[in-house]
Amino acid sequence: MADGRINYDPQFKPVQNIYEDRLRQFTDRGGDYHDLNLPKFYDKKRISLDQDHVKIKWYQVPFPQGSSPVSPDKRPSWESVIKSDEKGELNFQNASKGQPFGPSWSTTWFKVHLSVPQDWVDTKEQLLFDFNCNNEGVVIDPKTLLPQTAFSGGERTEYLLPKQEDGNYFFYIETGNNGMFGCGAGSTINPPDNNRYFHLDKADIVLPDWEARGLYIDFWMLSDAARELPGETWQKHRARQLANDVMTMFDPNDRKSVGKCRAYLKKEYFDKYTDDRAVYFQGDDQHLTNVYGIGNCHIDTAWLWPFAETKRKIVRSWASQCTIMNEYPEYQFVASQAQQFKWLLENHPKFFNDVMIPKVQDGQFIPIGGSWVENDTNVPNGESLARQFFFGQRFFLKYFGVKSDVFWLPDTFGYSSQIPQLCQLSGLNKFLTQKLSWNNINSFPHSTFNWAGIDGSVLLTHMPPGNTYTADSHFGDVLRSARQNKSNEFYGSGLMLYGKGDGGGGPTREMMEKMRRIRSMSNKNGNVIPKLQVGTSVDEFYQDILERTNNGENLPTWNGELYFEFHRGTYTTQARTKYLMRKSEIIMHDLEWIATKTSILYQDEYHYPVKEINDLWENILLCQFHDVLPGSCIEIVYKYEAVPMLEQVVEKCSSLIANAINFLKEKSENKKTSPIATLNWISSNNIKEEEADQFSARVDETEDHFTLNNGKLKVTISKHSGAIISIKDLTTSTEFLDIKNGKNKLGANQFVLFDDKPLSWQAWDTELYSILQFKYLQEIKKVAIIRNSHSECAIEVVIKVSDECSIKSTISLKSTTFETQNASKVDISTLVRNWDARNKFLKVEFPVNVRSEYASYETQFGITRRPTVYNTSWDVAKFEVCHHKFADYSEYTKGVSIINDCKYGFSTHGNLMRLSLLRSSKAPDAHADMGTHQINYAIYPHSGQLGADTVKLAYEFNYSNRYDVPKDIKEQFNDIITVSGDKNIILSNIKRGEDDASLKSNYSLNPHKEKSIVVRLYESLGGESRTSLITSLAVDYVCKIDNLELKTYEKCDFIVSEGKKHTTEIPVVLRPFEVASYKITFA
Ligand SMILES: [Zn+2]
Repeated sequence: MADGRINYDPQFKPVQNIYEDRLRQFTDRGGDYHDLNLPKFYDKKRISLDQDHVKIKWYQVPFPQGSSPVSPDKRPSWESVIKSDEKGELNFQNASKGQPFGPSWSTTWFKVHLSVPQDWVDTKEQLLFDFNCNNEGVVIDPKTLLPQTAFSGGERTEYLLPKQEDGNYFFYIETGNNGMFGCGAGSTINPPDNNRYFHLDKADIVLPDWEARGLYIDFWMLSDAARELPGETWQKHRARQLANDVMTMFDPNDRKSVGKCRAYLKKEYFDKYTDDRAVYFQGDDQHLTNVYGIGNCHIDTAWLWPFAETKRKIVRSWASQCTIMNEYPEYQFVASQAQQFKWLLENHPKFFNDVMIPKVQDGQFIPIGGSWVENDTNVPNGESLARQFFFGQRFFLKYFGVKSDVFWLPDTFGYSSQIPQLCQLSGLNKFLTQKLSWNNINSFPHSTFNWAGIDGSVLLTHMPPGNTYTADSHFGDVLRSARQNKSNEFYGSGLMLYGKGDGGGGPTREMMEKMRRIRSMSNKNGNVIPKLQVGTSVDEFYQDILERTNNGENLPTWNGELYFEFHRGTYTTQARTKYLMRKSEIIMHDLEWIATKTSILYQDEYHYPVKEINDLWENILLCQFHDVLPGSCIEIVYKYEAVPMLEQVVEKCSSLIANAINFLKEKSENKKTSPIATLNWISSNNIKEEEADQFSARVDETEDHFTLNNGKLKVTISKHSGAIISIKDLTTSTEFLDIKNGKNKLGANQFVLFDDKPLSWQAWDTELYSILQFKYLQEIKKVAIIRNSHSECAIEVVIKVSDECSIKSTISLKSTTFETQNASKVDISTLVRNWDARNKFLKVEFPVNVRSEYASYETQFGITRRPTVYNTSWDVAKFEVCHHKFADYSEYTKGVSIINDCKYGFSTHGNLMRLSLLRSSKAPDAHADMGTHQINYAIYPHSGQLGADTVKLAYEFNYSNRYDVPKDIKEQFNDIITVSGDKNIILSNIKRGEDDASLKSNYSLNPHKEKSIVVRLYESLGGESRTSLITSLAVDYVCKIDNLELKTYEKCDFIVSEGKKHTTEIPVVLRPFEVASYKITFA
């Protein structure tokens, strides 16, 4: 239109999809036209391994076949390897490209000498060492022994060489022969290939073209905007057009065109600070910040690799992050799990103190979380959850001088209804998680909300809207983090957790660059491109929520458990580990019970073994990591680490208990002993050494049945099926079983084999459809009387499961007295021999004569009620749920409790209660649950609804250890602390005050010269209740304290009386489900 009237040069409207598809060509290193596009300029120069400029030698740490892959000699310390090499003791050999090394889980060292050509050095440009073996490696400076950066293949292959005048470099690389996600054969979550070999693919020195690499990031983000922005936005179409302009402008034969392209984009779509941190201070401050980017690297403390490897993942991941922090001052990185910091401190104290701590002080490296590990919250008991925070927060205070405000638990398989209260008691009032977005039935409705626990305690909770804690900081990650926010009406911002994770890793330089570009585009083009902020801390983010939501009061509330609608198999998988966890928790309770009392009575003579107790607690807490205890780790974690560790906890606790008891025996005048229990209601009543039985047990036999009878209960067992077909209360004529109606018409203690083939995630999942595909085990080999005495009668049932596998189940009834009649229960002891199934789920059923819309399940320090009906999809989702020592199903007049000693999975629907026993998933551990298992449980029929009798019977069923103490000390011992009042208040644990100076605890923060105990009480059934703490010792003062033993909530009054004996009574009132700790300081 030269003169404005006649057209000589018609233009067309570009065809969107073709113009969009074309964009990939421009940056694609592997494409057909890579040498005609930008990749041509990524490197100015590159030299591969040649033993001249790049000289590499390698050394394989010995790994005898069949030896433990986790023993310390497989991962020798850096110092020992480098020292031995300096002495010439190690056989380092020349490495060549393609060089194989392995097998899986072994360690290979490389010794690298680089001599960079002088003309490269003279450019003064930043040089790279590009290294790839597809395993995990770390660069170690031989002079300082400090880690520099890490390699893991894929996006993490580049080491930015420190500037050096002579161009000569010497360093070591330690590599672990596993990928970031272990060594899964075929698929990541398959059992590992233990004989995998890795290869030296790349070891190059590079003089990069940083401007071309800058354009690569510019163009990548721009073309993502073109692809991913919504169609109605002009910003999308303009991004596509500009990207096409750049491709037109680019000339592969003219290096200068790179600069032109960058300048063009800076002018048209980015702001002027596009690759500078200043970008985060530009733009319209009136615009809401949609997304706050927080760097993190989720390091599973064990999963597809053992604890032993995690210790190395930590230093690799965190060293890289400290290096990135130097280059990107806006970068903030959060790391959780006190255990990981402790390992780092033990193995790399110099890095911990000289590199990491200064970054913590600068506010770039931010310890967060408050728990010992990112733990499972389904299976650990209440005391364990309390100690996760106790040790986690005290560790943080000791080494960083601050505790965390935020319970950081992005990845866990369900959320106990007691978390809010235990967090509040531990100085944590905010919560972050993400896993709930994996629900496979219902979508959780909030991103930002108040979560109220069963006692009403509230946690300000945020779930990153991007539904991941491993965002790559792609344009799409940022976009999703803004657009998927479900709480926009209350609070329009969300966190984006970026950084490689699960196997560790963390953010990369590339992510930092991409985020600067995204913010730059938003500065120039408005909020359609979300406003992303980097450099705001998690604490500041939560503070912002509070400020914009009337201190959180405007936010919606979710009450009770956050049930995770996925991974329901994890209440059951790895039965041995779960069994040992229950036993560890109990014996640790016993040890603290006995050691506390002994040390209070003999303060100057008996030393409370505080260091040992704390070490054992650390191991218990470690095994509660969110893949270990749930059962989703590979076999070597259980075989070589978790199981031996927990077995040792049980052994060590027993021997420490024996020490205390022996000490008491030495102190005693007379040699007679008497047993004590570690439950106050038993010890205060004194255990009768020989029970006087008012009603003896007896067994009767007819042609079809055996009946067990103890005057209270009459239990009928079919000789044909071995199942219990009737449980009758003889005093009220109430029948507790129902075999006329419902699915199970065979009886109680009926074993069932369910098909168990989930869609994926075998160890984790059991699916809804599998509860419809089952077989009752009815091949009965034996039903016979095996005990028939006044005190106990028992019937043994033997059932064939397979040629190798059988179940021997013993059903017994004990005699009763007037006092114990109402606690009469049917005890069942089941031995599963040689469980050898494949993808089957073994459960045991109890069809009961009960009808209610809800069943109650014991959880940590309380009860969670869940529906027994399928009204809504939220009800359906709870087809398998978690419980602790008991599940109870009650109607107004009667109910049945099923009590267990080592199980966690359960379901109650219609008239059927089901206890989950064993699974047989084949991935990632091909042998999960295989072998022999002893499982004890009991049926407790009761009149009325769930009451304190069930709670206490379940305690007695589990805390059944008895310890013989000298008779003359017993009363004094028991009277140190007891409670008297409402039966639903439980005295759960006692321990010594951690800060008592005489203890010299390694977790003491503020030692006081005093003699104190901490007593944990809780209200177990959900009603305000009263009790008194009673001690026979002279009391100085009593305080209600927090779980960290750092904060006093109130000073408590107490009443001293000098009756028959001197007692001090401390009146206590607890809210429904309140957990309360009291510190009693003795005079
Ligand atoms: Zn995880």
